[in-house]
Amino acid sequence: MRPEILFPLFAPVATLPGIGPRYAKLVESLAGPHVVDLCWHLPSGIIDRRYAPKIAAAEPGRIATIVLRVGRHEAPHSRRQPYRIYCSDETGRLDLVFFHARPEYLAKILPEGEERVVSGRLEAYGARLQITHPDHVGRLEEIKKLKTVEPVYPLTAGLTLKPLSKAAQAALARAPELPEWLDPAYQRQQDWPNWLEALRGAHAPGGPGDLDPSTPARSRLAYDELLANQLALALVRHHQRAQHGRVLKGDGHLRAKAMAALPFELTASQNTAWAEIAADMARGARMLRLLQGDVGSGKTVVALLAMLNAVETGAQAAIMAPTEILARQHYQTIAPLAAAAGVAVELLTGRDKGKARREAVERLSRGDAAIAIGTHALFQQDVAFHDLGLVVIDEQHRFGVHQRIGLAAKGTAVDMLVMTATPIPRTLVLTAYGDMEVSRLTEKPAGRQPIDTRTLPLDRLNEVVEGVGRALQSGAKVYWVCPLVEESEVSDLAAAKERCATLSARFGPQVGLIHGRMKGKEKDAAMAAFAEGNLNLLVATTVIEVGVDVPKASIMVIEHAERFGLAQLHQMRGRIGRGAAKSTCLLLYQGPLGETARSRLRVMRETDDGFRIAEEDLRLRGAGELLGTRQSGIPEFHLADLAVHQDLLAAARDDARLILEWDAELQGPRGQALRVLLYLFEQDIAVRYLRSG
Ligand code: ADP
Ligand code: MG
Repeated sequence: MRPEILFPLFAPVATLPGIGPRYAKLVESLAGPHVVDLCWHLPSGIIDRRYAPKIAAAEPGRIATIVLRVGRHEAPHSRRQPYRIYCSDETGRLDLVFFHARPEYLAKILPEGEERVVSGRLEAYGARLQITHPDHVGRLEEIKKLKTVEPVYPLTAGLTLKPLSKAAQAALARAPELPEWLDPAYQRQQDWPNWLEALRGAHAPGGPGDLDPSTPARSRLAYDELLANQLALALVRHHQRAQHGRVLKGDGHLRAKAMAALPFELTASQNTAWAEIAADMARGARMLRLLQGDVGSGKTVVALLAMLNAVETGAQAAIMAPTEILARQHYQTIAPLAAAAGVAVELLTGRDKGKARREAVERLSRGDAAIAIGTHALFQQDVAFHDLGLVVIDEQHRFGVHQRIGLAAKGTAVDMLVMTATPIPRTLVLTAYGDMEVSRLTEKPAGRQPIDTRTLPLDRLNEVVEGVGRALQSGAKVYWVCPLVEESEVSDLAAAKERCATLSARFGPQVGLIHGRMKGKEKDAAMAAFAEGNLNLLVATTVIEVGVDVPKASIMVIEHAERFGLAQLHQMRGRIGRGAAKSTCLLLYQGPLGETARSRLRVMRETDDGFRIAEEDLRLRGAGELLGTRQSGIPEFHLADLAVHQDLLAAARDDARLILEWDAELQGPRGQALRVLLYLFEQDIAVRYLRSG
């Protein structure tokens, strides 16, 4: 249960004074549904109202706060003209201008003959000096309040600064003093304010420097957020470790047979990764390991070793892929090797229905099949295993945490191996998984040639088509990737279909099309025809991004490469360069290119190293956008910016580790404060792992 002290912060934004239902909706979509979300909505700029000149010295263009004697009001003669109030001080004259004015209201706030303070942007109108719609009008005694630096908040359509600032102020007023959860020594060393001061400080910038993410106030808030993240992950891990797992330590007889059937030697990093996994599995605690390897680095074989190891002990193993195509591809790779070892494999995807599905499910629950390969269909309600010991999850970032847990729950103390082809930078691994063990496949299997990557403007499309024609003639297989258009699958598809039509007209029936809207069977057929049959040029939308293996493909054309992210480009490019032939990737772009797009394409030309590309991507785009979606498993931070706060993240990780060493149940005084922190950042799930206290 959320502690009472936080109730005011988790009230709906509509409970704030001055926030009616209409504003509440806008604020919700901008910041979030709760008062606390407004607290996290920090200023992105400032308006400095401290400039307070006499009229004669006032510079047009600047924001100023000026003391005026209010003169004559002049109502407009026509609707299009503004309402004008002639004002002055002892040095000169200044007009206040209002469009669509309400005269009674203006007469009230700016009564003729009296002195008032106004603040707004100075404009030159011919020879006149004026302020149109001053931001503030006040009595003389309010000048101190007006002559300040005002925070500017990120806004959304329909929501202007004034009501949002008011709402933010009202939200801040609800924020209570909270018990200190920071380690006192660390806080002293960093010279950080307490939480409430930090929050108020971050909302009250005194100058542009205060918007810097490394100010004490902002750093502290960022640290709080990171600490909540790291502590939550550490608690979940602690809990998982404490559940005793099982020892999966096979005698190697199945592995030996499968490896004998393998047409190649394992690379050194495959061997290392396997040794790390084997050591985890042999331990009594549950394995939770991430296997990171660039596309084509050979993760599947490593997974197979782990699965056979489990099977040798009498347990079952399952591997879950995010798409049908991938599941089938795993099946094709794994089935013959497993057959060589005499191990029965079951494929289960969403496409299996009726009797066939029932029988497959039965074979798994009876234990007749030792290895299951499938999509999310594997963790549907009616799928049970006889004795599931190991779960391998491929292309992890496409699955949510719940799906991961769902599959693991089908066995007792299941070991878990998560594989990703996205070379997530270490920083992000830390935020998404905490201190998860990581194995990395850093080398490509032997015999791979580097890919020659070039960038070309789209207006040289004809040349590219000619070049592709020559390549086709000499027997090449070519991918042609069509771009994402405005996130609309429909227009995406239209572009791909059109390209397929023009290329078919040119090259005949050897041209095929594959896209996300196709039925699974059609996709498989297209892929199969491309891999083995008479299709030589495959026009594709981003369906090919993930995992599909056609070693013969040696050319890839990507249209509008500037619209793709780095990680995505890299993933796609990984589809070629898998065979012995020399491969070429042509990135066609539409100019003019922005700074970021230019850098991205340069990185693609310069390197093939997925880990370097991922770091560059983080640098260029920031963590939030890195993998594009919320499903990435990587949390979105409000206050922390991983491009800036990497040091704080590392400190938070160490802090979390120490906290659990000292007080794993968060029972002591600091522990109690840390519970508040977890709730504050909505890590309620993690608190469930604690005894109440
Ligand atoms: P990914 O890491 O992208 O999942 P895969 O496991 O699909 O990579 O492997 C890509 C290709 O490389 C497959 O055809 C696989 O058989 C092959 N492969 C894997 N390991 C090696 C190796 N050590 N030497 C040569 N080829 C390998
Ligand atoms: Mg793979």
